[in-house]
Amino acid sequence: MGQTDTMTRASAVQRADATYVAPTYRRAPVVFVRGQGSFLFDTEGEAYLDFITGIGVAALGHAHPRLASALADQAATLLHTSNLYHHPWQSALAERLARLSGLARAFFCNSGAEAVEACLKFARRYWSTRGERGRTEFVAFEHAFHGRTFGALSATWDAHYREPFAPLVPGVRFVSPEQPDALAAAVGESTAAILVEPIQGEGGVRPISTTLAAAIRDARARTGALVIADEVQCGLGRTGWWFYSQALDLQPDLMALGKALGAGAPIGAALVSEAVAAALSAGDHGSTYGGNPLACRAALVFLEELVDRGLLHHVVAAGARLEAGLGQLRAKYPAIREVRGAGLMRGLELDVDATPVVDAALARRLLINRTAATVVRLLPPFTIAFADLDDGLARLDESLAAVLGTARP
Ligand SMILES: *Cc1c(COP(=O)(O)O)cnc(C)c1O
Repeated sequence: MGQTDTMTRASAVQRADATYVAPTYRRAPVVFVRGQGSFLFDTEGEAYLDFITGIGVAALGHAHPRLASALADQAATLLHTSNLYHHPWQSALAERLARLSGLARAFFCNSGAEAVEACLKFARRYWSTRGERGRTEFVAFEHAFHGRTFGALSATWDAHYREPFAPLVPGVRFVSPEQPDALAAAVGESTAAILVEPIQGEGGVRPISTTLAAAIRDARARTGALVIADEVQCGLGRTGWWFYSQALDLQPDLMALGKALGAGAPIGAALVSEAVAAALSAGDHGSTYGGNPLACRAALVFLEELVDRGLLHHVVAAGARLEAGLGQLRAKYPAIREVRGAGLMRGLELDVDATPVVDAALARRLLINRTAATVVRLLPPFTIAFADLDDGLARLDESLAAVLGTARP
């Protein structure tokens, strides 16, 4: 195809999206048709360095050969059976997740919000099975994001997400992650569970403090409230830890997973302790697609790479290199207030709106995004080569220079 054809094709796609797709997204004016490793390619064959991976999903980069061949093999073998029957891949995945997390059992679904939803339902079921029907409340945190379904949305802090959809699920209280004492006051005999993102992602890449983690442990010890870790964004190796709750010495009773789990194939999981699992019985929850052969094969390939083939070590090394590079940018640009995060999950808090930096990066063929208005978020693939990491940092430097002007002398 010639240049004109491809440009026509790109604008035709954008017009069709604007015409036929529900207007719930603001999309950048670029149409991607292909990916390879850490790069995406648009209709004109332009390469973009992917530092956002479809919001922390494409952890193995794009068109990963082992993932592609496992999915092709599975598609030619068996795509779906439902949970009316057994198939071999679901328990294989559940067992791997149990070994990594210390949580005994897994419920599979198709997204992060569904995983959170399952955790909320299982926490309530735990208490209702025990005959404590008054224990229905949830304590969540300011800046939290847990997803867009009604339960997950009810525990999401930013009023912009919630208010147009009221009334939501009652019984959620928000406390400041900066106030461990407020947590102690909020958690009591009617609390079913405390819901926490060990690193708040959408809220601006904010790791919770070890002080807050200690307060969560204390509140659980005092009241018996369950702890749900929402590791949808920060879990599964993204930070250089299997799960960031481990970095905080916080062993949850339930854990929500999604995003990187299928490395691009849609799958979520709610992991639960044996005690929580013991409160569940057939019919309590379900999903038609949940844990289907295709999605489980993808997740098994992802975990093989992460655990057996040493990818986590690479994340640790690349994460340290990214941290050092961002530290240099922080020293150079006074408009960068803070650099936060761990491993390959990083945020730059600016003293201005982050949108112009994201746009300037797109113009330099670097994909990043804005979260919490003033934060530039970076979620590169776990497989990123050091040379590409350095290249991305250089493009980010140019983008910051273009928007923020004169660097510190
Ligand atoms: C993205 C995200 C979710 C929601 O996941 P979806 O797959 O979009 O439903 C929930 N919790 C956290 C922490 C997330 O980052």
